[in-house]
Amino acid sequence: MAYKHTILPTVGEKITLDNNTLVVPDHPIVGCCEGDGIGPDITRASLRVIDAAVEKAYDGKRKIHWCELYLGEKAAKLFDGDLFPKETLEALKDLIVSIKGPLTTPVGEGYRSLNVALRQDLDLYACVRPVRYYAGVPSPLKRPETVNVVIFRENTEDVYTGIEYKSGSPENKKLAKFLREEMGATFFEDAGLGIKPISPFGSKRLVRKAIQYAIDNNRESVTLVHKGNIMKFTEGAFRNWGYEVAREEFSDYIITEESLYNDYGGKQPEGKIVIKDRIADITFQLLQLRPAEFDVLATMNLNGDYLSDAVAAEVGGVGIAPGANISDTVAVFEATHGTAPKYANQNKANPSSFLLSGVMMLEYMGWKEAADLINAAYPKVIADKTVTYDFARQLPGSTEVTTSGFADALVAKITGAAEDLARFEDSRREAIERAREEREAKRVMNPVEAMRDSGRQPNTASGIMSKIHSIGADESVEAAMHVMTDKNVSAILVKPGADGQWGIMTQRDILEKIVGANRSRDGVKVGEIASKPIFTVTPETNISQVAKVMLDRKIRRVVVAWNEKPVGIVSDTDLFRSVEEFGWGPEAG
Ligand code: NAP
Repeated sequence: MAYKHTILPTVGEKITLDNNTLVVPDHPIVGCCEGDGIGPDITRASLRVIDAAVEKAYDGKRKIHWCELYLGEKAAKLFDGDLFPKETLEALKDLIVSIKGPLTTPVGEGYRSLNVALRQDLDLYACVRPVRYYAGVPSPLKRPETVNVVIFRENTEDVYTGIEYKSGSPENKKLAKFLREEMGATFFEDAGLGIKPISPFGSKRLVRKAIQYAIDNNRESVTLVHKGNIMKFTEGAFRNWGYEVAREEFSDYIITEESLYNDYGGKQPEGKIVIKDRIADITFQLLQLRPAEFDVLATMNLNGDYLSDAVAAEVGGVGIAPGANISDTVAVFEATHGTAPKYANQNKANPSSFLLSGVMMLEYMGWKEAADLINAAYPKVIADKTVTYDFARQLPGSTEVTTSGFADALVAKITGAAEDLARFEDSRREAIERAREEREAKRVMNPVEAMRDSGRQPNTASGIMSKIHSIGADESVEAAMHVMTDKNVSAILVKPGADGQWGIMTQRDILEKIVGANRSRDGVKVGEIASKPIFTVTPETNISQVAKVMLDRKIRRVVVAWNEKPVGIVSDTDLFRSVEEFGWGPEAG
């Protein structure tokens, strides 16, 4: 398509795709739309910082050639009132990687939000929001440095798809009649109705992207966030499809959280990413109390909308939160706040959201060294308390600077001592690695506490079972008692003797069969007083079924077995603790 107003730079080459992999030349042409309101101010300032970082990191060998793209009010002036010109859409597709400022959403019936239009027309199905703490940024958290997550929010499904029927409208009445009469649904008269479609296709492609990101960026885990305990066929299905795509397409790279505890004793194997899931409300709570438990999160649209702003607020707010909307081929990075019209053209607004979206873009392009320079310069400028008005009002003793003044301070840090900055960013990464190791140590040493910290709610036998200790049937009762005291357990498994059957010996057996029977323990073999056969359940057995087995059989423990081999033991004390610790039950809201 021949462009009418868009001018491609005469130097530089387009970014291309080879088998869905980005091919970035040393002089790429990257799209840039400044947007409305404060957009021009923050764009100008940010591009200057990005250019300085690229120049410094690659000694002039690499350079971005920006191609201005038109959307919003500037587009309307050039394209006879068209806020959303077709040629911009084409250019965004053609250039593959672009960055944009905020756009005004025209108020009134019949207008589509430009941002929504962009996402829909380019099928930018993944909204990606990395949220991390930069030292010195005002935060309400006690330990904000533990926030370091990347949220992948599904952009094309859920309650935002606009399938809604206004109360009292003929369409609403028709649907209400169908739901009541044909489907047996009950709801109040004249309720507005909305439909929430969640598909395997939409869910899987989003989770696929999140897992791929985790693999490419050496992340620790991917958490599927959902409200599947209540909405089983939408939110619960998202969770199930998420696990499905993980198992079917990434089995060499992932392990489930169950497997982390059951098969690896809490120690995360090298190169494997843990896939877990959490109920949305617990996720909100834990992201405030123990954010370090989360790494990459995959969410549906509405949960992700709330969650990404809530997490951003912990480390500086949407004024500094970066974001991107990505399809399988096109990526549009963007400031996540709006146009803040009251500050338009005053050189006053904070450019951080746009700038840090630029950092994200550099990382996406594989230009990590340049991204690192900005990441490291940023906290140094904040530490100097050289900040725009929004931070100045929260940081006593700070020096308020303009948008361009803030960019000047960053450029000075970047061009001043780049090696020092690189070291600074490296030490931040090392601190993250150390925190990861601490979490792992806790999982190994104290799995129940680790589980509580991480918000995991055990529903099955494998989630609450204790480690088993076993002893040969020919060993003495005395030896078994020593092991039980040593390991602080009240039961021990007895390995198969001549009869080939596993058995179990408990403290109660000793009371009943030795002490109560007024018998000496000397010379008594474990096999003689062990109870056989043992009662087993599989690791997936629901906790309520485990309780039922114990009650029906009037026993106080069951052995958890996998492929006929005991792998754990669940006692009534474990059940009691689990209910006390994590609440009951799985169907609760
Ligand atoms: P907004 O533009 O984000 O502004 C709300 C407030 O947030 C501002 O008044 C300001 O707070 C603070 N703020 C936002 N960006 C800032 C920055 N860069 N530096 C410092 N402070 C910043 O939200 P809005 O007023 O609701 O929306 C205005 C327009 O933007 C609407 O047309 C809306 O549709 C559009 N919008 C666009 C996008 C987008 O393009 N992605 C996103 C959201 C909204 P103080 O007043 O406290 O200083």
